[in-house]
Amino acid sequence: MPSERRDVLHSWCVQADWDAPTVVGGAGAWLHLADGRRVLDLSSQAECCNLGHQHPRLVAAIRAQAERLCYVANAWGAQPRAELAARLLERSGFEGGRVFFTLGGVDANENAVKFARQASGKPRGLIVTRDRSYHGASYMGMALSGDSRTQSQVDASAYGVRHVAPPYAYRCPFGGQSDEDSGLRAAAAVGQAIDAEGAAAVAAVLMEPDAGTNGIVAPDSYWPALQAATKERGVYLIADEVMSGFGRCGEWFAWQRYGEAGRPDMMTLAKGLTGAAAPLGAVVLSADVAGRLEHEMLYTGLTYCGHPLSCAAGVAALAAYEDEGLIARSKAMGGELLAELERLKARHPVIGDVRGGRGLFAVIELVADRTTREPLAPWPQTPPALKALVQAAMGEGLSLATRGNLIILAPPLVIEEDDLAAALAALDRLFSRFFPASAE
Ligand code: PLP
Repeated sequence: MPSERRDVLHSWCVQADWDAPTVVGGAGAWLHLADGRRVLDLSSQAECCNLGHQHPRLVAAIRAQAERLCYVANAWGAQPRAELAARLLERSGFEGGRVFFTLGGVDANENAVKFARQASGKPRGLIVTRDRSYHGASYMGMALSGDSRTQSQVDASAYGVRHVAPPYAYRCPFGGQSDEDSGLRAAAAVGQAIDAEGAAAVAAVLMEPDAGTNGIVAPDSYWPALQAATKERGVYLIADEVMSGFGRCGEWFAWQRYGEAGRPDMMTLAKGLTGAAAPLGAVVLSADVAGRLEHEMLYTGLTYCGHPLSCAAGVAALAAYEDEGLIARSKAMGGELLAELERLKARHPVIGDVRGGRGLFAVIELVADRTTREPLAPWPQTPPALKALVQAAMGEGLSLATRGNLIILAPPLVIEEDDLAAALAALDRLFSRFFPASAE
């Protein structure tokens, strides 16, 4: 008798504690469980199923491509690969650039680092990233990440990575007096970190422009100031858009919120690139970076680079975002979501901060005391009452993602408005039940 619990090694958990339902299907924002229940997916699984579950266009595209050609190596041409690259370059305004395809986010980031080091002529160049970031779980990914779960597992300095403090306006590590001030100070700190090493020693700054797995939402002042700081110093800027891309933050790519003042030298993609219907990541290189690599040997490759089935899913995903107006929908619904969360915060003092809402990505941060902002549990622990709330939510057919004291709301961009409204009403009731002392 097959047993997931007995035979599979699951990620990011203690094996003995693993206990999750089996999913057998889905439609829109809903997952269908083996026991016959339906669950509303409020995190798009790993913030990746932006198009919901079993989107018919994705299923049809993968099926059609499978019937034509399942695989050909990256050394050969493949029609959906070329088509997807052209569409990504067009969408991002990286005309004259190139796209390198990977299997997911972490290998996109690793390869972006390689390209930055090679194109800059700094083969051992340092990479500046930040604390409370997440860039993947390979050793290089963990070195790049400023994540408490990964930092203990790797010596980041051995990988040439330096971390700086994040633009965390609610708990500003730089003593910022406002969101704007906090963003500017965090960007200035990156400039100072480059200067401390000497710009000639730094190949790139690699950061998430907006939403992040660890609940940081960069203030508006941050990214353009960061771009200016890297440009001034001749250091490449790599935007990790693995989570923030494809409408999650209300734009195709989060940096586009700032127009040309936000344009990076490279960006990395995954997750929403195929709506997670097939594994795919990408590095999009500017014309300048691509030009520097044009006549050099490229020491990288993956057997499944630009897999035709995944690229066909990517082409279909881009068409679905566009034809269904999902980027604009996410922006509009994100604003409404944040407004609802503000109302929730007014009713429940355990909520210290709500942020995000530029698209369908928002964070609820819980505190023991709103005045002192004392965390409900020390980061990255999840408070028992929050764990109980999440379990009760599941009992009501709602799947919630948490990290530490945070609830991360990132539903599929296709979620029905009524479903989201019902979920938020249920969340309100659950807060009253699990944090009664703090409810009105
Ligand atoms: N970068 C960011 C911002 C992410 O959120 C993630 C995954 O959550 C990754 C990179 C790693 O992507 P993958 O798990 O596909 O390797």
